[in-house]
Amino acid sequence: MNNREQYFARIEPLLGQGLSQHTLDLQGVRACARAAEMLAGCRLQRFRCKSKIWLQKQLKWKNGFRPARVLGPGPADARLVGMWIPANEPAALDFHFEQGLPCVTLRIPKNDRFALAQLNTQAARWILDGLLKQSWPTEGRSFFGQRAWPYSQTKTPGPICPPTPTVAGQKHIMVIGLGSLGSEAIRLLRRKDLRWTLVDPAEVSLHNPIRQWYGTEEIGQSKVACLARRLRSTRVRSVPEKLEDDGIKLRALIKADRPDLVLLSAGTAEHANLADVLWEESLPHISVLAYPRARFFEITAVVPKENTPCLDCYRGRLYSGPQASLPIDEELSSFLYERVAPEDRERIGRELVAEPATPIDTNRIAEVAARIAAELLSAPLKRSFWMQRLLNQNTTCLLGGNTIEQKENGNYAYGLSQAGQVIRLGLEDIAGYEEVTRCNTCGRSLQIHHHIETPPSAESIFDPEQLTQALLGSDTGT
Ligand SMILES: [Zn+2]
Repeated sequence: MNNREQYFARIEPLLGQGLSQHTLDLQGVRACARAAEMLAGCRLQRFRCKSKIWLQKQLKWKNGFRPARVLGPGPADARLVGMWIPANEPAALDFHFEQGLPCVTLRIPKNDRFALAQLNTQAARWILDGLLKQSWPTEGRSFFGQRAWPYSQTKTPGPICPPTPTVAGQKHIMVIGLGSLGSEAIRLLRRKDLRWTLVDPAEVSLHNPIRQWYGTEEIGQSKVACLARRLRSTRVRSVPEKLEDDGIKLRALIKADRPDLVLLSAGTAEHANLADVLWEESLPHISVLAYPRARFFEITAVVPKENTPCLDCYRGRLYSGPQASLPIDEELSSFLYERVAPEDRERIGRELVAEPATPIDTNRIAEVAARIAAELLSAPLKRSFWMQRLLNQNTTCLLGGNTIEQKENGNYAYGLSQAGQVIRLGLEDIAGYEEVTRCNTCGRSLQIHHHIETPPSAESIFDPEQLTQALLGSDTGT
């Protein structure tokens, strides 16, 4: 297989030839270029738009082997229109057929980079599902985000969702793991006065540019070095190393130059241990985990000084409704929710990489994580109402779905009934066998709200029927 084909190898199991037979017309391209980039990553080969040169350059940077072609106006299979609207109007997507041509219009409030990201991801999802499966949304306007929750999707507008506060001052963000979640979160958060500590031992591989913030000309270079160059290297501490789970290196980095926030997006076996170290160091952090194929994801905000639960409080104890049939298998559940023997952790970590996945799916996760980061970096009273509520009510674990899955009994996996939906879970969702249990890491007493009557036997833990219960209760036994 040559490089042109290899480039798409990791999405081929999902999409096959994807959108390679389709042509997309773009208008207002600067407001919908991110959607175009994601769709090119789903093999869309032909765009039509007026500002050809700018878009062509960007697409060529992402895929120098076989860049999508940008043609002048002409026939297309669908149309994407990017439109800026005043900042006090709600973010929305319009969908309608124009003489049979499916048209998606992005209505993006000016200067709201998270609305820009959210609408681009959602519009790309609509175009992909529409062109591949003929599954178009109902015609009309859909509103994205309200004051109470930025991830709501409704047909009628609610109280407006104000823009996420911009990160002010010389904040210092440490990002552990510069893959599809970490690198794209950085892309969204970047501002010229931020400082960074970037941690990742890897080099850019042939499979990375399709879902990560790297170009094909950067293949073979260190990820840390590529991002440092884009972020201005004087503001970046580069750590092209792996952080071992003994935490020694991480503690040394914190001691040498303490960050204001850590984004933990390595997706490796050390994840839980590194989170424990960050709790002990009293550092605000965000844990980002994609389940296999990025179909579902889990983002936990932890602020030790504001007395939130730690990551360990949730592990193994959250009741989040019926699990999805595919993504959580016993290995994943034990990786996420149990103490795994050190000799197994490395192997399991390798096998759980969230691939294959489309750039649309992983970008959604990065976008949610980056938004939480921007909120946490703001002073408590400057944060958005929904974020203040999330912290006050200790519902600091966000569970999101890039897909929906309806079970035989009509319930949705994880209670997620719309693709792209994000729900919040918290201390009220703790499940287990006892009345009260105690978190080993932070010492918090956890009240059990969902009682599980009969502890599963050792054999039944791996019985799919018992899996939900095993997930919830396996680490409350002692
Ligand atoms: Zn805890």
